[in-house]
Amino acid sequence: MGVDLEHNHSEPYDVAIVGARPAGSTLAARLGQAGLRVLLVERVAFPSLPAVSAPFLLPHAMELVDELGVDEGSYTVDTPRLGGFVLEIGDYFRSVFPFDAGPSSRDYFYTIDRSLFDHTLWKNLERYPSVDAWENAKVVDLLRAEGERVTGIVVERGGETIEIHAAAVVGADGRFSTVARSVGAAVTEEREDLATTIYYDFWEDIDSYDESGQALAQIYSSCDGFSTVAMPTSGGETIVLVQGRADRFAELAGDPEGNYEALLRERPRVWRRLEGRRRRGRVSGMKRVGNLFRSSAGPGWALVGDAYHQKDSIDAQGIYDALLGAKVLAEELVRWRRDEVSWDVAMASYDRRIYAACKPMFESTMGRLKREIYSEPPPAVAKTMMRWMLSDPEYGHRFALLLTRQIEPASFLSPARVLKLSARGAFRRLRRYIAGSDPTDPHHLGAP
Ligand SMILES: Cc1cc2nc3c(=O)[nH]c(=O)nc-3n(C[C@H](O)[C@H](O)[C@H](O)COP(=O)(O)OP(=O)(O)OC[C@H]3O[C@@H](n4cnc5c(N)ncnc54)[C@H](O)[C@@H]3O)c2cc1C
Repeated sequence: MGVDLEHNHSEPYDVAIVGARPAGSTLAARLGQAGLRVLLVERVAFPSLPAVSAPFLLPHAMELVDELGVDEGSYTVDTPRLGGFVLEIGDYFRSVFPFDAGPSSRDYFYTIDRSLFDHTLWKNLERYPSVDAWENAKVVDLLRAEGERVTGIVVERGGETIEIHAAAVVGADGRFSTVARSVGAAVTEEREDLATTIYYDFWEDIDSYDESGQALAQIYSSCDGFSTVAMPTSGGETIVLVQGRADRFAELAGDPEGNYEALLRERPRVWRRLEGRRRRGRVSGMKRVGNLFRSSAGPGWALVGDAYHQKDSIDAQGIYDALLGAKVLAEELVRWRRDEVSWDVAMASYDRRIYAACKPMFESTMGRLKREIYSEPPPAVAKTMMRWMLSDPEYGHRFALLLTRQIEPASFLSPARVLKLSARGAFRRLRRYIAGSDPTDPHHLGAP
């Protein structure tokens, strides 16, 4: 990676990339590996937290980072490995799942420090001499040839406005993508009806969830359009996130700070761990998290990561999709630059491949939002079928396979499987009831 004050800007780059977090930095690395001449432009300076992110990093995403030769230890300093989830459904039941995504996968995940993770990916670019990377540089416009093909970017950097020419421009610039706006990339699919709003803060010295002392992520669904997640992260802190139907959040009077704390206080199973603990006191979040796809490419431009596809964070797929999109797009850009295929053929292939990879999981995430946030299960169902099924170890295993994209999302819960897990769970519940002890009992930990 060069700082590139000497670069002759009249000599076009192969690819100019806007935005240098998971999508942009890893795309630059993969193109750099293939020897393409790349300019990566980022408006902030690293290390820097993204505006909003409370991120689980799951094993399938780590595998894509492994492919770049980035050591796991370099982006997980002082960050605990999480061994599983505990799912609590109202006062009905709780279920602890060890994270078991099969023998070919790590059996843990992290709530990473995004500032460190993004900075690590940025520093990794030093290995690639054909990649120039500019921070504190903002892309303000695109250059176009006659016929409207995009031919470069206009960058504001150090008080100067610079025109950079490139054979292709990639927008890896996130949800509010300047590139998408500038080329008029159409939103091709959107689910505004399932939008959620999310607020979170960092808390200190929260005890582990239970007496086992294991680091677990606690998901508590209050079955009223809201849920909370407590995610142990770096530096001994825990991110505690409140997520809810966007319309329910909009009805709350008061400011985000007050609403955040009130929602936590109203949930004793969550509050029992927070009471008397300190938090940073700076609630972050996002209203109406987007669920959409945009057109992926056009003449001289392409989009990747959140700029192309956004979805609710409930299934923690954003970083994986960004890393995967970068991998697929890099393969297609390399084929094009090597004259193996035309631009149109390369971008049609990118579009087909990335849509096929993301769409089924997107539908699954929308289904989960509908079931877990937008529906309120009748108590009779929550106490029986849901309890029996969600406390079965096979459910936990399949959930980990789903989140790591190892099974077709549509096959996650077939009617036959629902029946099997429920029947087995009912039998197990009966046995435990007779024995007088059931770890799925909600009062097991003494919370009210
Ligand atoms: C509340 C919340 C929780 C989430 N939780 C998870 C989770 O648990 N797990 C998970 O995998 N994902 C999660 N995500 C999603 C994840 O954060 C994103 O999917 C991921 O950051 C996308 O990466 P990206 O590189 O596409 O874009 P971004 O991370 O948004 O990076 C875009 C970059 O582009 C730069 N940029 C923008 N405009 C310009 C410009 N004009 N010029 C130069 N640079 C520019 C920005 O400064 C930024 O650095 C969550 C998201 C939210 C909102």
